[in-house]
Amino acid sequence: MASVAVVGGGIIGLSSAVCILERDPRVKVTLIADKLTPNTTSDGAAGLIMPFVLESTPLHLQRKWFSETMKELEKFSRREDAGELTVYTTTVFFHTDEIIEEPPWKDLVDGYRLLSQNELDKLPKPANFGYSFTTLFINGRYYQPWLIERFKGLGGDIVKRTVDSLDELAGLYDVVVNCPGLRARELVNDLSMDPVRGQVLRVYAPWIKHAYIRDIKDLASQGRYCYILPQANGEVVLGGTGYHNNFDLRVSADDTRHILEATSQLIPSLKRARVLEAWVGLRPARPTVRLEKEVKKFKDKLGKERTLKVVHNYGHGGSGLTMHWGCAMDATDLVFQFLARGQKAKL
Ligand SMILES: Cc1cc2nc3c(=O)[nH]c(=O)nc-3n(C[C@H](O)[C@H](O)[C@H](O)COP(=O)(O)OP(=O)(O)OC[C@H]3O[C@@H](n4cnc5c(N)ncnc54)[C@H](O)[C@@H]3O)c2cc1C
Repeated sequence: MASVAVVGGGIIGLSSAVCILERDPRVKVTLIADKLTPNTTSDGAAGLIMPFVLESTPLHLQRKWFSETMKELEKFSRREDAGELTVYTTTVFFHTDEIIEEPPWKDLVDGYRLLSQNELDKLPKPANFGYSFTTLFINGRYYQPWLIERFKGLGGDIVKRTVDSLDELAGLYDVVVNCPGLRARELVNDLSMDPVRGQVLRVYAPWIKHAYIRDIKDLASQGRYCYILPQANGEVVLGGTGYHNNFDLRVSADDTRHILEATSQLIPSLKRARVLEAWVGLRPARPTVRLEKEVKKFKDKLGKERTLKVVHNYGHGGSGLTMHWGCAMDATDLVFQFLARGQKAKL
C-alpha cells in the first residue's frame, strides 16, 4: 500500500490530506503537525474568499485555484449544517481613492459591478473608484475541525509532533507533502518566505451584514488597511495591517487604535461594538506560491545516498483560505504522478 505523509495541519495541509484520500482511500495518509486548530494561522484568518497578498504568483494559477476553491465551497455552503460550520455568502463593497484596474478575477465571482457615483458619494472622502461582488466566507475555527473529521473518517492518521528536517521521513513514506506555511523558512531553508504581519480585532456587531474594504494609497504604503468582515455568528473581523518582513506576534496598541479609527470612520456604529479579541498572525508570503515536485537527495547518518519525493505546497500569503482547495487538487495530482512512477519502477 502506498504511504504519504503530509507535514502541516493548517488549512493547506488538512485540505491536501483530505484531497489525497478522497482521490484514493487505499493510500495510507499520515498528517504530521505540531499545531492544530485552533492554534494555526488559518484559525485567525478573516475568512474572506478573495485573492490577496499573492505577490507574483502567475495570474492563470491564481484564477484556477480561486475558482476551484469557490466551486468546492459552494458545495459546502449547500450542506444542511452550513450554518453551524459558519460558511455563508455576502456582498463585499470595495473602494479606493485611486482609479485602478478592475480585479482580474471579476468574472469568477457572482454579481460583480462597479459602484455608482451616488454610492461613492455616500462614502467617507476620498472615494473615487469601487466595485462590489458576492463571495463566500468560511471560519477556520469551524471549517478545520470539520476537515479533520472528514480526514479521520476516510481513514487518515494524525501525529502531533515537530519535524526538524524532512530527511527524517525518508524511507518511511513514498511521498511527503510539505505544507508548513511560514515555517518553510526553517524546514526547507526557504529564505524567500516573508512574514506579512496582520493584526485584526474581533468585535460583536451582529447588525453588520455586508463586508467593506477601503483601500487608501497613503495608508496602504504604510502597510495599513481598513476592512470590516462580518462572520456568520455576529462577530465582525476588523482590520488591519500588512507589515512585510515582520515576525512580531505581539498585539500592538497603536495598530488597535488605527483599526478602530479607520473602521469606525467608515461605519460609526462600530465605535460601540464590544471588542472580543485582538489577534496577530503572520501571512506566509513568498514571491510565488510554491506548488511543485522535488526529489530531495541527501546523505543519511551512515553516509549513504538517500532520496525523498516531496510535493511542496506553501507560501499562500493572504490567500490560503481562498486558494486551499484548488492547491490541494494540484498537490494531489503531483502526489499521484510520483506514486505512478514508483509503481512503474517496481514492475
Ligand atoms: C490577519 C490575517 C488575516 C487573514 N485573512 C485571510 C482571509 O480572509 N482569506 C484568506 O484566504 N486568507 C487569509 N489570511 C491568510 C491565511 O491565514 C494563510 O494564507 C493560511 O492560514 C496559510 O495556511 P497554511 O496551512 O499554509 O499555514 P498555517 O495555518 O500556519 O499552518 C502551518 C501548519 O504547519 C505546521 N508546521 C510547520 N512547521 C512544522 C514542523 N517543522 N513540524 C511539524 N509541523 C509544522 C504547523 O504546526 C501548522 O499545523 C489571513 C492571514 C492573516 C495573518
